[in-house]
Amino acid sequence: MVPAPPNSVAEAFSRGTRLKCPICSEGRLFSGLIRMQKICSVCGFQFERGQGYFLGSTYINYGVTTLLTTWTYLVLRLGFEVSKSVLIPSLAAFCVIFPVVFFRYARSLWLSFDCYFDKTGAMERVPEGEKSEDERL
Ligand SMILES: [Zn+2]
Repeated sequence: MVPAPPNSVAEAFSRGTRLKCPICSEGRLFSGLIRMQKICSVCGFQFERGQGYFLGSTYINYGVTTLLTTWTYLVLRLGFEVSKSVLIPSLAAFCVIFPVVFFRYARSLWLSFDCYFDKTGAMERVPEGEKSEDERL
């Protein structure tokens, strides 16, 4: 397979949620629980960016946490009439634990969607030998 950035939102989402390289969709983004690889072991794509690049992933993490918390509160409180004394401490704990668990996925999704929206910038981070003829021109 020739390395290429995601061609659709679904493909970017798929590569992001599988924690795979956004260019070749085969290389793993993380070598451990929180340790991110610097380059893709399959295509050589540079995951490492400038300082602050992955700050944007906190927006994804925060947004998903907020949506899940709000949705869960509304469904359980209004739909099932669960008491506030049970809901609030439970959801507060969720708001602390979930972002830690979701951290890797937020980074992966951020990187994948960045490659989808900025295909040229993404391909500049792939070594010349891995690019197809069209991308070298
Ligand atoms: Zn790769």
